[in-house]
Amino acid sequence: MGKVYLTGAGPGDMELLTMKAFRVVKEADVIIYDRLANPDILKEAKSGCEFVYVGKEDGRHIMPQDEINETIYQNALKHDNVVRLKGGDPFVFGRGGEEAAYLFERDIKFEIIPGITSAISAPAYAGIPVTHRGVAVSFRVVTGHESPNKTTSQIPWNNFKTDDTIIFLMGLHNLPMISEKLIEIGKPADYPCAVISKGTTVDQKVVIGTLSDITKKAEGIPTPALIVVGKVVELRQQLNWFKQ
Ligand code: SAH
Repeated sequence: MGKVYLTGAGPGDMELLTMKAFRVVKEADVIIYDRLANPDILKEAKSGCEFVYVGKEDGRHIMPQDEINETIYQNALKHDNVVRLKGGDPFVFGRGGEEAAYLFERDIKFEIIPGITSAISAPAYAGIPVTHRGVAVSFRVVTGHESPNKTTSQIPWNNFKTDDTIIFLMGLHNLPMISEKLIEIGKPADYPCAVISKGTTVDQKVVIGTLSDITKKAEGIPTPALIVVGKVVELRQQLNWFKQ
């Protein structure tokens, strides 16, 4: 019986992989990976390492989560070193907690290897600090997967009235509803926001706008993409350092 490393692959730029993740990838007998993990990481595996793609994207998956859990478990019965490689950080909307709980219930040893989350690093590569003295004293990372029009929404929209930075993951398809909702709770229509696509990679695209025009401006931008709402977006004028 082996051990499972629930491993963060980082946001895209391969050099943002942690040294620990790099080591377990090199030692892996099998790597179970998502679409969001940079495929170049797999080239670091030893010869004979098996690869299992469980293609998950924007919260929708080719393989249902319980099948992914079972796949990880079955591989742990067969191999010594099982790497479950997930985009960004495994515990930031990565369902890493569910996978770890599934293993815990079956007495499989596991380790969590945190990764650099896209929530912070994609803004950083876009020249947007998620906090900034005098501008934003905190930031929130929120799922954008759920439409704000849902009556049973668990998202505390009314708490978003402050100038704290809000980062929506998995929200591109709900961008029109999200921006409307934020205006509805009292944010000005010209409030700054950004959409960052394929952050930290050579294909990174950044669209800057306001709550009223961001949907139109970001039309057709490819996924994965996240939304940053807050006055920190304006700092990009000075801090945009990343040129592809
Ligand atoms: N665990 C991941 C997030 C998984 S949810 C992490 O910590 O980064 C998937 C969402 O993450 C996508 O819908 C998108 O909103 C965001 N995302 C992941 N990689 C991204 C990237 N390189 N650029 C922009 N957004 C990204």
